[in-house]
Amino acid sequence: MLCPLQQKGFSLRADATIAFVSLNEAYRQRFGRQMCVTDAYRSLAEQQAVYYRRPGFAAVPGRSNHGLGLAVDLCGGVERSGSVEFVWMEKNSKKFGWFHPSWAYSSPFEPWHWEYDPKLGSLLD
Ligand SMILES: [Zn+2]
Repeated sequence: MLCPLQQKGFSLRADATIAFVSLNEAYRQRFGRQMCVTDAYRSLAEQQAVYYRRPGFAAVPGRSNHGLGLAVDLCGGVERSGSVEFVWMEKNSKKFGWFHPSWAYSSPFEPWHWEYDPKLGSLLD
């Protein structure tokens, strides 16, 4: 069940899309612009292409959260660890069920990669 994002050409699982729209709205209020997305749902074929193009930078095909429609790769500043946008995301994304997985801080270092966990938002209320 994929749903398109406001960012043209990208989609995620329906519940992840709904959560991302809310996160995007909070981000827009803070920074005055939409979140910038470079990657969201990837089909198995697309995942394979990334995997072979950039070994070590994409999960083994079939094992990525991109393939489940539960991960995004972001730009617009978030891709730089320590930027205002990145720090804002660390502080605020969990309210919307989005988080930066611990592996992405180091192995491999992927500040742009964020994932959705439907249990996360409800735990914080
Ligand atoms: Zn990613």
